[in-house]
Amino acid sequence: MAGKITLVEGDITKLAVDAIVNAANPSLLGGGGVDGAIHRAAGPGLLAECKTLGGCPTGEARITAGHRLPARCVIHTVGPVWRGGGRGEPGLLASCYRRCFRLAREHGIRTVAFPAISTGVYGFPKDQAAAIAIREIQRALAENVGIIEVLLVCFNPETKKAYEAALAGTGE
Ligand code: ADP
Repeated sequence: MAGKITLVEGDITKLAVDAIVNAANPSLLGGGGVDGAIHRAAGPGLLAECKTLGGCPTGEARITAGHRLPARCVIHTVGPVWRGGGRGEPGLLASCYRRCFRLAREHGIRTVAFPAISTGVYGFPKDQAAAIAIREIQRALAENVGIIEVLLVCFNPETKKAYEAALAGTGE
C-alpha cells in the first residue's frame, strides 16, 4: 500500500512522528529558523550528538535521536542556498529529499515530517521548492520504501499555497 501526503500547519517540533527533518546548515551545530527551534525543543543532548557527526555537505543527510522531542529521530539535511538557480540548486534540493528517504528506509521510519527545506533564510523560491519536494516524495512513496505517511509542515500560508499548487499539478 502506498503512503500518503498530508499538509499540516504549525510547528514541526510538536509532531510525534518517527522522524522529523531538520533544515540544517553544514556544521550541524544549530542555527536559526527551524534548526534553532528543533535544537531548543530537543535539548542539549541533540547538539552533543550532532558534534560527533563532523558536519554534513549540502544535498546530504545525517540521522540522530530525537532526544526530548516527541519524534523518535531527527534527519538533518543541508539544503542549497539559492544563488539564482543556475548553481545546481534544484538538483541539490532533490538530493536532500532522496537522502532523507534513504535514511528513513534504513531506520525503519514509517512516518516522517518535513519543513520546507531551503525556503527560509536560504531563499529558495517556495513554488519551485514545493514542486521538487512533491515530485521526490511521490517518487519515494511509489518505490514503497515503507513510509505510510509524509507530513509537510506549512509554517506560513505561502508554503501551504505552494504545496497545494504542486499537488494539484500532479493530480494528487
Ligand atoms: P533554510 O535555511 O533551509 O532556508 P529555515 O529554517 O530558514 O531553513 O526555513 C525553512 C522553512 O522552515 C521555512 O519555510 C520556515 O518558515 C520553516 N520553519 C521555521 N520554523 C519552523 C518550525 N518550528 N516548524 C516548521 N517549519 C518551520
